[in-house]
Amino acid sequence: MSEGLSVVSYLGATILFILCLGGLSNQETARRGNVYGIIGMAIAVLATVFGQRVGAAGLPWIIAAMVVGAAAGLYAARKVQMTQMPELVAFMHSLVGLAACLIGFASYVDTSIVFTGAEKTIHEVEIYLGILIGAITFSGSVIAFGKLSGRIGGRPVLLPGRHFINLACLVIVIGFGYAFLHAEAIADGMMPLVVMTIVSLAFGVHMVMAIGGADMPVVISMLNSYSGWAAAATGFMLSNDLLIVTGALVGSSGAILSYIMCNAMNRNFISVIAGGFGSDGKAPAKPAGGAEPSGEVTPITAAETAELLREAKSVIIVPGYGMAVAQAQHAVYQITSLLRERGVNVRFGIHPVAGRMPGHMNVLLAEAKVPYDIVFEMDELNDDFPATDVAMVIGANDTVNPAAAEDPTSPIAGMPVLEVWKAKTSVMMKRSMASGYAGVDNPLFYKENNRMLFGDAKKTLEEVHAALTAG
Ligand code: NDP
Repeated sequence: MSEGLSVVSYLGATILFILCLGGLSNQETARRGNVYGIIGMAIAVLATVFGQRVGAAGLPWIIAAMVVGAAAGLYAARKVQMTQMPELVAFMHSLVGLAACLIGFASYVDTSIVFTGAEKTIHEVEIYLGILIGAITFSGSVIAFGKLSGRIGGRPVLLPGRHFINLACLVIVIGFGYAFLHAEAIADGMMPLVVMTIVSLAFGVHMVMAIGGADMPVVISMLNSYSGWAAAATGFMLSNDLLIVTGALVGSSGAILSYIMCNAMNRNFISVIAGGFGSDGKAPAKPAGGAEPSGEVTPITAAETAELLREAKSVIIVPGYGMAVAQAQHAVYQITSLLRERGVNVRFGIHPVAGRMPGHMNVLLAEAKVPYDIVFEMDELNDDFPATDVAMVIGANDTVNPAAAEDPTSPIAGMPVLEVWKAKTSVMMKRSMASGYAGVDNPLFYKENNRMLFGDAKKTLEEVHAALTAG
């Protein structure tokens, strides 16, 4: 491929990636956005593989690696359950970080291009930063993967003097960076580079282990952002403009998402960046499932829920992680259609951190073909609950927990939540009295106007649908 065609392909791919991000910002255009992304990525890969910088000798290696990578990706994408999606994303982020580290070391020991003077310094700074960000992204994402898949407990691990440890890591990284940049030979620079890599790996582990349950979404989106910056740093190391642009797009969109998540959790963005993660000075959340019941709850049957819905004029459905676990979205859609046919105003309220990844609920509802125009964000309908007859909470817990608004000592105090308890009646669908991801007891269970519909969400919704159809 000629140099000119390569440049044009890169430019085309860049434009497609920007159109992709634009498309993904809205549910109605998300599918088109995805198609732009796929075409852009295909062009990018082809232009790189058949570009000027890959010689004929390297081609079989690259093609073999692509076949292995594509087969692994295809297998993972086909096999993964919707509930495992968040941990798959975290795993993918870790691979970007690992790639940045490996490319950094390979670039450093590669003597085929000799840099001198300022160019050498710039190249070494790129390598150092690339490995630094890559290592933090790698180890942080591995821990996030462990936490999301339940292999590592959600409880924050707060080491004594952790801010001091973070500061010490920073000082070591700067000190060894100085030694690295002043190393005469590759062998001399290797020691500071390896030490910095180990410190960064440890920092990544420490950073994510310190995050309490409810703050995880912020970390996920931050790691997403880091993976973008790691890719951009790799682009600098390899002098690949497209990788720089793509990495910057992922990095900045991830940073914007982190900001949105911070707002959703009512956490301060700066303190998150500085490693505060909102857990300072607060009691760590109890592990999931550890909530102590306090007070009386009022159970309800599927038939009684159907009766409530039959008499309702306005219904707000609030889905959460449990809907994903139960795969109840199709049953939800059936009930929604039936109620809408009968003239009931049915809307969905989506909390920004519901589920286990950004947009988790929207994806599920779109899959079940729930119309986009009845799906609202928390802010758009939180004021409407007092005028709502029934609020149906389907496998949501933390995101509807009144303690966030009413109990200043709660670990999730200050987090905006969907105020379902203000509806005439709220029906909470879940299997037991267990708490949600943050491990915080939920006073909603015990409110006078709340009813508990116990059972697997899909099964109970099908029973509600059957009772509604019969009635
Ligand atoms: P929660 O995790 O708070 O609660 C989910 C509830 O679903 C549980 O209480 C569980 O109760 C119930 N449940 C589980 N399986 C089923 C089933 N088969 N049928 C019915 N109910 C079921 O969910 P939310 O969506 O309200 O909140 C999300 C939480 O996850 C927040 O704390 C958020 O910070 C965190 N988080 C979010 C991420 C994101 O990016 N969105 C990423 C990481 C964490 P029971 O066992 O009794 O059935």
